[in-house]
This record gives sequence, C-alpha cells and structure tokens, in this order.
Amino acid sequence: MQKFLNQYHYISTSRSGNHNVDLAIRRFQRFAGLKVTGKLDLATIDQMKKPRCGLPDDVAGGGRVRRYKTGPKWSKKSLTYFVEYGEDLSQYQQDIIFQKALQFWSDVSGLSFSRASSSSAADIKISFGAATHGGSSERTCAYPFDGQGGVLAHAFFPSDGRAHFDEDEEFTDNTPKGTNLLWVATHEFGHSLGIDHSDVQGAIMYPYYTGYVEGMKLHSDDIAAIQSLYGNVLEFVGLFVFVFFSLLLFLFFTTTFMPCDSCSIIRPYMLSTG
Ligand SMILES: [Zn+2]
Ligand SMILES: [Zn+2]
Repeated sequence: MQKFLNQYHYISTSRSGNHNVDLAIRRFQRFAGLKVTGKLDLATIDQMKKPRCGLPDDVAGGGRVRRYKTGPKWSKKSLTYFVEYGEDLSQYQQDIIFQKALQFWSDVSGLSFSRASSSSAADIKISFGAATHGGSSERTCAYPFDGQGGVLAHAFFPSDGRAHFDEDEEFTDNTPKGTNLLWVATHEFGHSLGIDHSDVQGAIMYPYYTGYVEGMKLHSDDIAAIQSLYGNVLEFVGLFVFVFFSLLLFLFFTTTFMPCDSCSIIRPYMLSTG
C-alpha cells in the first residue's frame, strides 16, 4: 500500500510535498472517485489492485472541480510516429489500432500524424517490452514493467515521445477478453501529447483501465484537454470562414459605395442630404 502511494506520487518522492499517509489515502480515494474515508477499506484496496497506467497521478493541487490536467506540449502540429510491434496482434491490426488511437486526438485538434521511417527519427516512439524494457533506439527504461495486471503501459510527456506497452499483458482488439489495445494506446498517446491523468471517470485519461467499450470515443473532458493545448479544429475552419467573409464584405462595400449616380443603395442618402 505504501509502495502504491509512493509509486503514484500520493506520497511525495521529494522532501517537500505530502508525507502524511492518511492524507495520501484521502487524496487517492478522491481522485479515483471512491468514498473519501481516509481509511484503507476494502473498496480502496480493491481499487489499488486494478490494472492501470504506470504514470503517477498529479494530485498536488486537487481542485474542487473534477477535470483534466495538462503538462508540457509539442511546439509543432505535425508529428511523426514509429511502431515496434508487440506479439499479441498482427502488425496489420496494430497499424490500424494505433492509427485510430492517434486519429481520436487529431480529429478534435489541429494536430496531424504521419509514419516516420525509423524510431530515432520519430516524435512518438511506440514499443512493447516485458519487465526491463526500452525501444531499440532508446536506453533501458527507468520504470520496469510488473508482469501481467497492474501497470499496463506508460508514456512520456513531450518532447520525449516514448510510449511503452507491457508485453506481459494480452492485448486484444474488439473483444471484452484481455486488455483492449485501442483504449490503452489512446490513453498513452494522450500523455505523448501532454495530457496528464484526469479524475473524471469515463474520460480516456482516467488512470484506471475501464475495459472494452464498443464504439469507444473521447470524453468531453479529453477533448477539452487536447484543445487547451493545441486549439480546436473548428477554430481553423472558423478563422478561414471569417477571413473569407471579411474579404467578401470588403469587396461588397468598396464596389457598392463607390460614389456613383446609378447606385440604388446610396441614392436615398444622397437625396435626403440634397
Ligand atoms: Zn496514464
Ligand atoms: Zn518504459
């Protein structure tokens, strides 16, 4: 339990921050959406055993409103990715899943994604590994995986770009069995783009694996998070429409209100002033 609270930063790893176990339990219960008792009850212990993302939860602020949190972001909108495939699904299936997971984020932001020719050339470096792991172009990851269950995957904020999946899980597609790769990938890519864990249950960025959902999509909290970092697709369309109509209006007025006797719109004005 103490290890869990340390691992996910409910107890601070540095000298400053929280070292009070009761407070850590209360914060954990609040973040996970449990009844806040400050005691290690059954529901709390159960929640700690659930499969989840390996990244810690940022609970330092702990605002009253449940919502997303964000970290650093990319300074560009066109990003590349490279896949070092896992063993559970075909490469074809994994290609489609990763593409879909990235598209969830690009569909609602100004971001775009394309394949890189190598891991070292990619912004987002996707790889699988058990226990001690790390992609082919990377140093050994400082956070070893823990076998089946527990930590499913983890990813690093911009501009690191590493996204690691625990090969000891059984990643699946379109079935309630095993661990749904699309859900985990979409969550991890959220981190790769700079989004932290959200305490909104039902959000993709909630740290606990919520299982296979047919027709999975982003929660409004996830959309608000990505748009707070990179803006909105509609903003780009909106800007275009605004410029287009401004130009049209400008042309209309410059041609219509040119002083001319035959102009029907301006004539009443000219008559009234003599
Ligand atoms: Zn996570
Ligand atoms: Zn790792």
